[in-house]
Amino acid sequence: MAQEKHFFQSEAAELLKMMIHSVYSNKEIFLRELISNASDALDKRRIEVLSNDEYGEYEPRIHIMRDKEKRTLTILDNGVGMSRQEIVSYIGTIAKSGTREFLDAAKHDGSKNGFSAGEMLIGQFGVGFYSAFMVADKVELVSRRLGSSEAWRFESSGDGSYTLEEASLPECGAVVKLYLRQQNGEDGEDKEKDYTDEWTLRDIVRKYSDFIAYPIVMNCSKWKDKQETVEDEVINSQKAIWCKAEAEVTEEEYREFYRHLSHDWQEPLTRIAINAEGSVNFRGLLFIPQQAPFDLFMNEKSGGLSLYIKRVFIMNDCKYLIPGYLRFVKGVVDSEDLPLNISREILQEDPRVRVMCRSTLRKLFAALRKMLENEREKYDGFWTAFGKVFKEGVIHDPENAKTLLELSLFHSTHKLAAGWTTLDVYKTRMKPNQEGIYYLVGRDLATLKDSPKLEAFSEKGYEVLLLTDPVDEVIMSHTHEYGETKFIDAGTGQVASEEERKEAEKQMETLAGSFAPLKEKIMGALGDALSDARLSARMKSSPACLVGDGNAMSLQMEQLMRAMGQEVPPAKRILEVNPEHPVIRKLMDLAQAGDARVGEFAEVLYDQALILEGASIADAGRFTRLLAGIMSRALETDPE
Ligand code: ADP
Ligand code: MG
Repeated sequence: MAQEKHFFQSEAAELLKMMIHSVYSNKEIFLRELISNASDALDKRRIEVLSNDEYGEYEPRIHIMRDKEKRTLTILDNGVGMSRQEIVSYIGTIAKSGTREFLDAAKHDGSKNGFSAGEMLIGQFGVGFYSAFMVADKVELVSRRLGSSEAWRFESSGDGSYTLEEASLPECGAVVKLYLRQQNGEDGEDKEKDYTDEWTLRDIVRKYSDFIAYPIVMNCSKWKDKQETVEDEVINSQKAIWCKAEAEVTEEEYREFYRHLSHDWQEPLTRIAINAEGSVNFRGLLFIPQQAPFDLFMNEKSGGLSLYIKRVFIMNDCKYLIPGYLRFVKGVVDSEDLPLNISREILQEDPRVRVMCRSTLRKLFAALRKMLENEREKYDGFWTAFGKVFKEGVIHDPENAKTLLELSLFHSTHKLAAGWTTLDVYKTRMKPNQEGIYYLVGRDLATLKDSPKLEAFSEKGYEVLLLTDPVDEVIMSHTHEYGETKFIDAGTGQVASEEERKEAEKQMETLAGSFAPLKEKIMGALGDALSDARLSARMKSSPACLVGDGNAMSLQMEQLMRAMGQEVPPAKRILEVNPEHPVIRKLMDLAQAGDARVGEFAEVLYDQALILEGASIADAGRFTRLLAGIMSRALETDPE
């Protein structure tokens, strides 16, 4: 069959160009990437073989073959391989969303946080294969898919196009052959390493890929009887890093292992080693990244840990080992006590797996608690990146809800600028007669901190949590309390003590008569939107605010549900007015006197209250006209 010429998808071509022209000093990582692909492919083969009896025995291996004369380096594996279609879509295309944006940003700002664009590209977009073009001017890939008899040869010089033709390969897997660039420069920093040199390659493999669970075999020279011969030798220790004592592992090794596991280009925020003994013995190594992946919320099914049994890889992304709200945690768990031929269905039901999950969680929470106590800044970073997802657990994992709340951070009215507070610290600041933990839900901090609903609380010196995540409202109404302390919605709840409430009620009753005409006007003008208008002692300096009717959804929740495409009939709200406010007092008088303008004033009051809720007003044009009218009258330039 003839050779076909293909063009790289434009994003792919552009990434390639960046790779080739990268002045990236750390070019040796191309080998790490190719080995890591080989290791991934062997993992995949193992999974497919487990679920298909037709695939027979095989000896997993990764080979590195160097040829000094021809200046080629070949990396071979007998993993799952790729079909023709897979070569086109995995190598010729970059399917990840956000690639375009990233490319544009990288052009303007070559490096970020000390990482070169090259490193970020490889990490964030899984373009590890392309890193071969940093050292090679031609790359050839021959691959045969497990279960297929045909093989395909891909060849490219990184010039925007590649060729595909039929080839042959004795077994499934992939063979990647690099035609290395001429070494430039004589000595000094510019000089490229010789990637056919045995010791250079040994060093690179030891540095980045020592823990790879499959043997990496290389043709090495041996001296026997003063004669140089070539022999294959395994050049990685294959030691499972999670089985070693922490003191035996260098930071660099941990870093490389994390990289291999997560494809993250940054260092992890923290690492948690587990060595559990008890009804189930297992070891684990978990990492929390520094930053959330861009698809953390789009991809709610992602996550899970890698499961090993007796050092043998079983599966990636095992969801039974860690709940979904911790989907950002990366890591491995390895048990001696599970049978190697365990199936997915059994995994899900196995009580030992549940024990492992529970004790992994315990370890993780303990580590987080320690970070919260001793490394607050780091913890704030954790919370900024993952707090939103973490909090989902309060709803989905009732067994741990209390612990999760304990580890949660909140904004509050106490020293707003100073950042977050925990519930425990909030409780230490509670006033003696304070009935519970007050919270207010809103669109953003800026809107919340100006809310009229806070006025009575701040006057009493009560702290109020300011909640801006959609999930917060669900959490609060779901859990009701923290320890013995109730959560109270400051939007509907009352701040006053029993006595004060009675006092206020009495006062409102005495005012009821003079409020009646105003109430009639308000309901007349706004009856479609309001279920009631009433006097309230809630505010101190604002004239009016909107509150929910009993268990009604908040305005935010309503808007969120609509944004998610749900039909939510707008709940009618209550307009509360402050009889202490001069505007309200004046309006009560005007209404009593039958002044025709009162209806319009009521509309403006209502729209203002909406704005303070962070909600949008129904008819902005009318609002502006009404307001302009009021202003011009106030300025006594009313044309009428
Ligand atoms: P990533 O490994 O992050 O997905 P790469 O650019 O390194 O990105 O590889 C792209 C894809 O090409 C891989 O996800 C895999 O599907 C396929 N691939 C690469 N190398 C191999 C290989 N040796 N065997 C089988 N498939 C491979
Ligand atoms: Mg890769």
